[in-house]
Amino acid sequence: MKGWTKSVILASRLLLLGAEFRGPSAAILMYHSVMPDPAQYVDSLDGIIHSQSSFRQQMEMLARDYHPISLDDLTSKLRTGRALHRHSVVITFDDGYSDNYEIAMPILNELGIPATFYVTVDCIENRRLPWPSRLRWTLRKTSLARWADSHGNIWSLADSAARQQAFLAACDDCCRFSGKIQDEFVDRFERELDTAVPGSFGSLMMSFDQLKGLVRHGHIVGSHTMSHPNMAHITEEEARRELSESKARLESGLNSPITHFSYPCPALSPHWNERTVEQCRTLGYDSAVTANSGLTKPGDSPLQLKRIHPTKTVPGLRWNLESAFAGRRI
Ligand SMILES: [Zn+2]
Repeated sequence: MKGWTKSVILASRLLLLGAEFRGPSAAILMYHSVMPDPAQYVDSLDGIIHSQSSFRQQMEMLARDYHPISLDDLTSKLRTGRALHRHSVVITFDDGYSDNYEIAMPILNELGIPATFYVTVDCIENRRLPWPSRLRWTLRKTSLARWADSHGNIWSLADSAARQQAFLAACDDCCRFSGKIQDEFVDRFERELDTAVPGSFGSLMMSFDQLKGLVRHGHIVGSHTMSHPNMAHITEEEARRELSESKARLESGLNSPITHFSYPCPALSPHWNERTVEQCRTLGYDSAVTANSGLTKPGDSPLQLKRIHPTKTVPGLRWNLESAFAGRRI
């Protein structure tokens, strides 16, 4: 749908009317990174960066026109059946970038918006980017003309479209690995293509001190695994380790219970399944968010929560929220 058509529909308040006839629900928004100048890191983080100004504008709109609540508030309402405020929104961040603490948190604090930050523990402890960003950087920066994958396929790196195809193929392989085997895959990949993301990029990840600062300011820290694999495509034992070790490390580092989890969605579908949901339950998580699109309604399973893509603009965010609250698929 064209931008002006969306503007006309939003201005007509038809979607708001539609939402009136639907029950209460909450939108969990999925953010990653917030930077003053997103272009600076586009070759590693690509489209997951919000500019500081657009993030601020989106938060101001949410504080003014919606009802921001914490994830604990939402899950407690789901558990107890207490009524959800109409147009509730929950802010979440994936991966654990230091800009979450340095740039996003002051804006959230100023506006009184609580948020949840899901962190990839291995990336926090070792100060390095999650593997998709490392693969992306290598494929965009290599001077080689082709890449041979482990299945014998040769990928041209002649232009940016070809490099993107090779990146997606590399992601399909790497997301099936966790821990040491994943490390070996990325190391080999960087060796073969003769380039690696600079070590200084490790400072893009939060430190444990910053995580403690988030908690001190009333925000929630959750787990986004140890090594960011696709949880539905690794073994049962590996998935258990990703869930339990990340929880234990964060709990000992922050000295507080970690009860919220976010499924990484690096590549391939699905990125969670019944087995991983059961593992979350038995290992003591109260909630788990997916990257599937949709709202949270009373009666939904707290271990398979959907989220809403915030887009990069205020009208885009408003459109996605109003459409979802009115029952449209987005
Ligand atoms: Zn992630």
